[in-house]
Amino acid sequence: MEIEMNNNKLIRCYGCKAEIKNMDGPKHAYIGSDSGCWDVFCGVLAKEYTEYNELWQTHRLTVDTYAAQHPGNPGRREIQSVFIHLTRLYLQLEMGLDGKNANAAMLNISKFKSQYVWLDPVPDFSGTININDVAGARDITEHKHIVELWAESVWQTWSKHHDTIRYFVEHNKIMHPVRRELTHGK
Ligand SMILES: [Zn+2]
Repeated sequence: MEIEMNNNKLIRCYGCKAEIKNMDGPKHAYIGSDSGCWDVFCGVLAKEYTEYNELWQTHRLTVDTYAAQHPGNPGRREIQSVFIHLTRLYLQLEMGLDGKNANAAMLNISKFKSQYVWLDPVPDFSGTININDVAGARDITEHKHIVELWAESVWQTWSKHHDTIRYFVEHNKIMHPVRRELTHGK
């Protein structure tokens, strides 16, 4: 009886703190979300792949933002995931690279993996924009707009660690290959 009641109850995702269904479903191996939240995220991805398939830029931001909002526990894969997704958020939001160039800049990122660190303390995402807000978008324009707001809010929540990410990008000249290409393109 009690179990049945629990199944109807909404819970807060332990990663992003969104209100989600308390369900026993699949979740990602190291992105730190509860199943109910992961389920909403998969729905959003499906929508981006089908209805919104021209939104390459937005899709990149969706994936990076979701991962950055669900850091999980300080294991090797989690450290790598959070560090990479935050670096790509930095390239897009602070350095103005589009999704494609941000991707290109990250191609050889694994060369520097010994520099990835667990960013402690991990922020508390209570009250930030979350995947429910994104899933609630009524059309492509609203979707794009909410994803941009969400990305910015998650990036700002990590503000204590912005210097670490900035240093990583500058020290390793992560943007160099892309910069060359951007200059040639002009
Ligand atoms: Zn979540």
